[in-house]
Amino acid sequence: MEIPSLNKQQEFTLASVTDLTSSSSSPSSSPVVATFSCVNEVKELRFQESESSDGFSFDLSSTQLFKLGPLLFICVSDLSGSAKEKSSFSRGVVIKFKDDKDSKEFSDSFEECKKDSVKQGSSFLNGTVVSANKSKFDDKIEAASAKMYFHYYGQLLHQQNMLQDYVRTGTYHAAVMENRSDFSGRVVVDVGAGSGILSLFAALAGAKHVYAVEASEMAEYARKLIAGNPLLAERITVIKGKIEDIELPEKADVLISEPMGTLLVNERMLETYVIARDRFLSPNGKMFPTVGRIHMAPFADEFLFVEMANKALFWQQQNYYGVDLTPLYVSAHQGYFSQPVVDAFDPRLLVAPSMFHMIDFTKMTEEQFYEIDIPLKFTASVCTRVHGLACWFDVLFDGSTVQRWFTTAPGAPTTHWYQIRCVLSQPIHVMAGQEITGRLHLVAHSAQSYTINLTLSAKMWGPGANQGGILQTSSCKLDLKEPYYRMSQPQVYPTQEPPAQSQDIHIHSDDLEEVELLQQTANAQL
Ligand code: SAH
Repeated sequence: MEIPSLNKQQEFTLASVTDLTSSSSSPSSSPVVATFSCVNEVKELRFQESESSDGFSFDLSSTQLFKLGPLLFICVSDLSGSAKEKSSFSRGVVIKFKDDKDSKEFSDSFEECKKDSVKQGSSFLNGTVVSANKSKFDDKIEAASAKMYFHYYGQLLHQQNMLQDYVRTGTYHAAVMENRSDFSGRVVVDVGAGSGILSLFAALAGAKHVYAVEASEMAEYARKLIAGNPLLAERITVIKGKIEDIELPEKADVLISEPMGTLLVNERMLETYVIARDRFLSPNGKMFPTVGRIHMAPFADEFLFVEMANKALFWQQQNYYGVDLTPLYVSAHQGYFSQPVVDAFDPRLLVAPSMFHMIDFTKMTEEQFYEIDIPLKFTASVCTRVHGLACWFDVLFDGSTVQRWFTTAPGAPTTHWYQIRCVLSQPIHVMAGQEITGRLHLVAHSAQSYTINLTLSAKMWGPGANQGGILQTSSCKLDLKEPYYRMSQPQVYPTQEPPAQSQDIHIHSDDLEEVELLQQTANAQL
């Protein structure tokens, strides 16, 4: 939404003003007039005792107003950022109004005039003030998490890792080039530009101008890379800053971004993507990608389950250099099962047809990402022990010419996202045809990730089944921020069965015996 520029001047005669930063710090003797001048870019609040005296001004971009009482306010400004002032200290005044009406009108004018002049997250050198106008990003994300996050993306090796995911980068390239008409002659914003690769693709497809917005130090490398491609460089502007904080000179026809994390939502960058939509995209603008889907299916993987359970067995030792480790066994076991497993698995481990949860980037609000609640319902294809829920995602580039899907599904060419599995510490038993129900509840946290709450249930067959059956339920809580990367582990999967429909094939019983044997051996070794 465009913020209208204010062109007005408003005056208030105050009951008194006390300058907290002056040595005398006594209230003014004669009436002081406070004037807001909000003329386009320059927004200030001026205090003047009489026409003849000097008075002083506060730059509204770095000024805050705190209400102390119905008629009493304190106004604090950070002067250190001001070019005019040499002082590195903040200035504060206590303002007293004559009546309620004046006090209310003053604070309303203050808010209105300040709205678009905020210097985001400004800090006061002689004291820290929690700013009411802090960046939307800083409000919800822990500073330590953001620092590590942008440090990570500021390094070329991590950008290279993404560029070398040819399935990913190749699909973006194809989606842009196949839909040239969506880019040609258009204004594009690259949300989280990284190395600038998607901006360069957009320029190659004929974009009129591309704004490459990148918050990390990578923005400098993007500038260098773009400058080295002079034919494209004249149509690309790199802007270093967070999408939540920066301003752009014009609206965009197209947003392009790669904001996907593990389980689609990890890193919480989809929120940034929809904030960019609300701030910068024209009403009928396009988003590349347009929608995303989280796919889910129950899986059976005795190897993985045993591997995880065995890790905690270390803490079962009663004589570790003479020390009993068992007091920590339960915690260690819980710790391992709170890590989502990231690896590429064989789709034949899935024991029911998958379902998906759709996220429409063109409609979803930022707040809707804070809590994502997905009811689950599957029909088991085989009789097995279900060890948990496997998840992956895909996104759609809904171009005017070609609709292209990019998938991270098991069995499809592997990407750097792999797939993710939430493993239950208590597997559940199902028969072929049996219904598995449950819930996947994702709650965003301030470390740019999610807490995952998973519940899977199945009604047991056998005695009592016709009276409603006995409900088996298993739940787990995981932190998406702390995955267990299992890619380097050797994976032994049965190969006897012909590669057919993923859901009808399951681990052969011989293999299960082998796993049990493996488990016994492992137990015996400890
Ligand atoms: N578009 C690049 C990089 C994708 S990785 C490519 O496809 O190769 C996501 C990038 O977005 C990172 O470089 C990260 O620093 C940046 N980013 C994440 N959140 C951001 C935000 N709020 N504002 C600006 N950039 C952000």
